[in-house]
Amino acid sequence: MKSINEASIICNNCNTHTTKTCIIKNGFQLRAWQCNNCNEQWIHPIDLAEYNKYNTMRQKQYAVKLRLVGNSYTVSIPREIIDFQENILKEINQMIKISLDSPERLTLYFSKKMEEELLK
Ligand SMILES: [Zn+2]
Repeated sequence: MKSINEASIICNNCNTHTTKTCIIKNGFQLRAWQCNNCNEQWIHPIDLAEYNKYNTMRQKQYAVKLRLVGNSYTVSIPREIIDFQENILKEINQMIKISLDSPERLTLYFSKKMEEELLK
């Protein structure tokens, strides 16, 4: 059995073969097919579902408790956020970087790559 990635997709607007491409949207890599004639794009359904899930989570506000443990404060990160990306779980055993972006905003960097991109 072949996967959808091996299929040849024909644009329904202009009847031409599409080419595989990769769209970067809000830091997300989305596999897609693009018509080189009319520029119509079709995003891979799995990538689109993941992207939509991220957008739903992004609009959500999580209420978390701040607890004093020794000389530090701890914040519980909702499991939904950690479970969202497997690569976060791989790095979670290491140290996570945080920075005070403004007097009222603290940022957590789950991945080194994102931290480096944001600091540019
Ligand atoms: Zn087309």
